[in-house]
Amino acid sequence: MSVLNKDLYADIIIDISIESLDKTFQYRIPDSLKDRVVAGTKVNIPFGKGDRRITGYVVSISERPKIDISKIKDIDSVCEKQIGIDDRMISLAFWMREQFGSTANEALKCVIPVKKIIKNKVERQILPLVDVLRLQEELKKAEKRHATAKKRLLEELIEEYDQGLRYELVTQKLNIAVTTINALVKDEVIKVESKTSYRSSLGKAIDRKEEKSRTEITLNDEQKTISDSIISDYKAGRRDKYLIHGITGSGKTEVYMSVIDEVIASGKSVIMLIPEISLTYQTVKRFYKRFGDSISVINSRLSAGERYDQYLRAKNGETRIVIGPRSAVFTPFDNLGLIIIDEEHEGSYKSEQSPKYSTRDVAFRRAETEGASVILGSATPSLESYSAAKAGRIKLFELTKRAGGAELPCVHIVDLRDELKARNMSIFSRKLKALMIDRLSKNEQIMLFINRRGLSGFVNCRSCGYVVKCPHCDVSLNLHNNGKLICHYCGYEQPAVTTCPSCGSPYIKSFGTGTQKVEEMINKTFPGARVLRMDADTTRNKDSYDEILSKFSNHEADILVGTQMIVKGHDFHKVTLVGILLADMSLYTSDYRSAEVTYELLSQAAGRAGRGEAKGDVVIQTYNPEHYAITTSAVHDYKGFYDEEISFRKLMNYPPSWNMLKIMVACGDEGALLRETDRVKADIDKEISLLGEEGIKVFGPSPANIYKLNDVYRMIFYIKSSDYRKLVILKDELGERQSVEKAVSLQFDFNPI
Ligand code: ADP
Ligand code: ZN
Ligand code: ZN
Repeated sequence: MSVLNKDLYADIIIDISIESLDKTFQYRIPDSLKDRVVAGTKVNIPFGKGDRRITGYVVSISERPKIDISKIKDIDSVCEKQIGIDDRMISLAFWMREQFGSTANEALKCVIPVKKIIKNKVERQILPLVDVLRLQEELKKAEKRHATAKKRLLEELIEEYDQGLRYELVTQKLNIAVTTINALVKDEVIKVESKTSYRSSLGKAIDRKEEKSRTEITLNDEQKTISDSIISDYKAGRRDKYLIHGITGSGKTEVYMSVIDEVIASGKSVIMLIPEISLTYQTVKRFYKRFGDSISVINSRLSAGERYDQYLRAKNGETRIVIGPRSAVFTPFDNLGLIIIDEEHEGSYKSEQSPKYSTRDVAFRRAETEGASVILGSATPSLESYSAAKAGRIKLFELTKRAGGAELPCVHIVDLRDELKARNMSIFSRKLKALMIDRLSKNEQIMLFINRRGLSGFVNCRSCGYVVKCPHCDVSLNLHNNGKLICHYCGYEQPAVTTCPSCGSPYIKSFGTGTQKVEEMINKTFPGARVLRMDADTTRNKDSYDEILSKFSNHEADILVGTQMIVKGHDFHKVTLVGILLADMSLYTSDYRSAEVTYELLSQAAGRAGRGEAKGDVVIQTYNPEHYAITTSAVHDYKGFYDEEISFRKLMNYPPSWNMLKIMVACGDEGALLRETDRVKADIDKEISLLGEEGIKVFGPSPANIYKLNDVYRMIFYIKSSDYRKLVILKDELGERQSVEKAVSLQFDFNPI
């Protein structure tokens, strides 16, 4: 029996994302590579005409050739600098491909957090070989001889006796010649030591010398009940899903940390997901203080080398807690115990690239297959999570009070129609203006927030607030540049209106107040007030975001004006007034989630007021003072909001009641696109008649929100179904179809946002 002589074949996904190549290709593993090629290895292979060299991922290995052996080519070599994927991640990738639709190559790429191996830095340290007294003697000698370089080095070394000095620091910053160092080495006063050092992900800002000081916080009763309950499940070996619904500042993070303690103590690892925008210095520092160097942080600002090191540290078990945004869900821990998704409702948890995965679903999947628990946390849970909790699929916990004892702010709703009647043409209502004057006189801070989502396109009446909506879909129509109002769900269209259908006013148009305009108005209305502006323009630069926030935090300005980016994260203790200049903008985007988004934004904006001792006020300016998203957020009533919203979703068969598959047909040639779209429509109809029409509905085709993008035209279908599997089957069937027209692509997005 000679196992050695048996040929082995590898199924390989080639590293090109073209649908027609989206299958495995078999290659022989030459003997010389047999012990190096395993599932997940990245390899070089000859491909196609002329045997051009390309790369691919081995996804499985077998002894059985699938085709005539003479036609099977050999693997060329292993990609030395590339990182392989481990087995679990390969299965996860294939699951993602199935669930969300993508090529296998795209799915594999997605689960590898780093692409390349990047050599670690070697860092040299200068360490004392003698005690402090002896160093002081040496110092005196050096002083006597006026050896100033030696003196500087010794002084510094005495100061940093325990830590030692970085070699580069000594040669560069202290400007000490190598000969000086070598002389001290020769006298056996110091030694130079080399060690590989991982690139830190914590940034320069974290003072690593600062003691890992656990400022002990005693959990309050609500927090303790939750923490105890999750920990006792965990200890009993029960792995489950939990949702902590707690207003901002109610102490969710403290609960996470106490559960993390337990999971770490049991020898397992933790993935802590936080939206990038909330992943501030303060947050990182808080975790560092508690868990020290066992944490590592991943964010988009890391260099490739830093990223690689975080990956390696996690893989080697040196890191026990990884904190990062969406992609950190793929951290290759071998012993995952817990995944936490903070602010789980955040849109950034949905990938915008194929596979358009939902991080929550991926986390659930990983947790199920690897025996981990999942904790979701939010002040405004997604309808998906909250309804799952109500249905008993997730355990629900509530935190109802602010932990530090601060009170919730008082919310005032201002009807903008009344302002117009009172001849107040300013963007500041009378109420807001009065409160602003009051706060400025007390030297307290103000945040003004304009909600720019949905800014483009939605048309409303300035006199009565009327919004033009689709008669079939109950979402706002969007103004396209061809002058027509179009529904993005069903394709309904009508000419743009010039007078308000409700009150006849000519002041009906698409809204557009920018942050810059608001800044101007402040300068005019409140001369002398110091204003900071934060929006896409002022934060182009990498650090400007932090800069603006820290300026505001240091009270270098009285008023901060911004878009939704100012509502997240930071605690400003001196902010006692938050003004939302027009709450309606997100309410009438052409998106079924617009009320949810509005509720979230308003709650979060309101959560910025009165975090300190003084109670805060919030002014919400709106044309729709009766809308449930506004009235419920004003009284901090999430459940009231949820009940209204879920009945709307059920009525309209929107997620989470039903599931929705968005299919985009795209092509650079408009004529070809339209012809192919008709054929896709016919194929969808045919497939649905096979699947059974019960519980499935087709909407569209209609032009995409931006119909023409980068010279590519796009048409959209929405398929709603009560059964997710039906949509997966439909996706698979359509994925197989061959387009008649050239260069037409189909893209899938499940439960899009
Ligand atoms: P969340 O994550 O829900 O926004 P945090 O955990 O960040 O809430 O807590 C908000 C603030 O209250 C923090 O400053 C935190 O230190 C403090 N805090 C949380 N729990 C307690 C507690 N049990 N006792 C005292 N302060 C607490
Ligand atoms: Zn009107
Ligand atoms: Zn419609």
